[in-house]
Amino acid sequence: AQGLNYWREDALLRAAVEKALPAAGRENALEALDAAGALCGGPLSALVEKAHQDQNLPRLTKFDAWGARVDRIDYCTEQVEARRLAMSLGLLPPVGLAERMAKAILLNYNGEGGITCPLAMTDGLVQLLDQHGTPAQKSRWLPLARDPGTPTPLTGGQFVTEKQGGSTVSENETRASLQPDGTWRLTGLKWFCSNPGELWLTTAKPEGSDTVALFLMPRRLPDGTLNEAHILRLKDLSGTRGKATAEVEFAAAYAECMGRPSRGLVLLLGTVIRASRIGVAGASLGFMGRAALESRLYGEARVVQGRRVADYPHVKASFARLEGERRAALGAFFRMLAAVDAGNPAEDVLVPLLKVCVSKLGTEHLREARLILAGNATLRDFSVLPRLHEDALIQEIWEGTHPVLAAHVEKALRRRASSSAFLALLAPAQRRALEERLKADAALPEEARQAAHESLCDAAYAALVQN
Ligand SMILES: Cc1cc2nc3c(=O)[nH]c(=O)nc-3n(C[C@H](O)[C@H](O)[C@H](O)COP(=O)(O)OP(=O)(O)OC[C@H]3O[C@@H](n4cnc5c(N)ncnc54)[C@H](O)[C@@H]3O)c2cc1C
Repeated sequence: AQGLNYWREDALLRAAVEKALPAAGRENALEALDAAGALCGGPLSALVEKAHQDQNLPRLTKFDAWGARVDRIDYCTEQVEARRLAMSLGLLPPVGLAERMAKAILLNYNGEGGITCPLAMTDGLVQLLDQHGTPAQKSRWLPLARDPGTPTPLTGGQFVTEKQGGSTVSENETRASLQPDGTWRLTGLKWFCSNPGELWLTTAKPEGSDTVALFLMPRRLPDGTLNEAHILRLKDLSGTRGKATAEVEFAAAYAECMGRPSRGLVLLLGTVIRASRIGVAGASLGFMGRAALESRLYGEARVVQGRRVADYPHVKASFARLEGERRAALGAFFRMLAAVDAGNPAEDVLVPLLKVCVSKLGTEHLREARLILAGNATLRDFSVLPRLHEDALIQEIWEGTHPVLAAHVEKALRRRASSSAFLALLAPAQRRALEERLKADAALPEEARQAAHESLCDAAYAALVQN
C-alpha cells in the first residue's frame, strides 16, 4: 500500500473524525489530516520500512574511544528523519486531542514504527509539565520535550517497570534521596525503558517512605554533563523494534520531583499513563486500518482458481465483520476522547476499557488479514503485516496487561461518579443489562469475581458499541 494516502483510503476513519472534531478549526484540521495521510503513506512509510531492516535497528554506544561513558542510542538516519517528519505534522498539545489522535492512527498504519511509542510518552510528558510543572521546570524542560532537533526527536520516556515486575508500581525498589538544594538523587534499576532520549519520567520511593513519587530525569544535567543514568543493554525485542528499549541503572542520578512526592502515583496514572493507554487504543486502530487496507488490496489482486480472493464468500463475510468491528471501535474511541476532553468521570471506565478491548481487536484483525494473504503474509520482505502483528501483541502487554486493567474497569464501574457517567452513555436496554451484570458479579465470591473481570470488560464494551 506504499504511496497511498492513508487518510483518503480510510472512509471509516474519516467519518469518525469528521463527527468528532470541534467546529472551531475543523477545516484546518481536516486539511492537516489529508496532508498527514499523504506523508504517512508516502515518505514516512518508506523511511519506517528502511529503519526496520535488521542492520538499521537502534544500537547502544556505552563508551567513547577514550573509555568515557556516553550512554547513547544511535538511530539510523531514516529513523531520525522519520521522527522529525512526524513531528512536523503537529502531534503535541496544544493541537486538539481528536486531531492529534487521528494523526497518531495514521502514523500507526506503519506500525509502531519507532515513532508512536515515543509520541505517546512525549505527549504525556508535555501534558504533565504543562499542568503540574513549576515555572522553572516548564521553562527549562518544555522546550527540550518539544524540540524536533534533539538526536531522538519525540524524546520523552517513562521508566517505571523494574525487574520484579511492571504491574505493581507500588513494589518499586528504586530509592530517592532529597538534596539540600531541593533536587533528588535516584538509585535503582529500571528494567524496561523505551526510547531513552533526553528527558524521561521515572518513579522511586523517597528515603524513609513507602510511597512512590514521580520524578523528571534528564539525560544531561543542567551544566551539560551526563547524568548518572547508565544504559546497561538493549532488549532484543520481538516487536516495536524501531525504538530502543533498554535496561537503565540510576547511580545517584539527578532528578526533580514532579508535584508533591505523596501524589506521584496519582500524577503518573492520571496524566502520563492515561496518555499512553489512549495511545495504545489509537495504535491498535491504526493497525486495524492497515490490516483492512492490505487484505483488501491483496484480495482484489490475487486470483485463485479463476476467482479473486476478495470474491470468496468467507472473505466477503470476514471483511464485513472486521469493518463492523472497526467502525464500532472508532466510534467508541472518539467518544472516549470527548469524555477525556470534557473531564467526564466516565473516562475512568473508558480509558482502561478501550486499552483492553481495542488492543485485543488490533491483534485479531492482523491475524485475520494475514490468513487472507496466507503464505505471503509470513514473509517479512513481502508484507508489513508480520511486523505489525508483533507490535500489536506488545500493545496488549505494555501500559497494563488485560487482567490488571480489567480490574481497573471493574473498580471504576463500582465507583458512583464514574459508573453513573459511563452508564449514562449507554442506550437504556444496554444500561439495564450491564447494571444486572454488575449486581450478579457483586454477589460472586472474591476469586470468581476477579476471574470475571475480563468478561465484564467484554460486556461493558459490547454495551458501549451497541449504542
Ligand atoms: C517492548 C516493551 C517495552 C516496554 N517499555 C516500557 C517502558 O518504557 N517503561 C516501563 O515502565 N515499562 C515498559 N514496559 C513494561 C510493561 O509496561 C510491562 O511489561 C507490563 O506493565 C507488565 O509487567 P510485567 O511484564 O513485569 O508482567 P508482570 O507484572 O510480572 O505480570 C505477569 C503476569 O501476571 C499478571 N498479573 C499481574 N498483576 C496481576 C493482578 N493484579 N491480577 C491478575 N493478574 C495479574 C499479568 O497479567 C501477567 O500475565 C515495556 C514492555 C515491553 C514488552
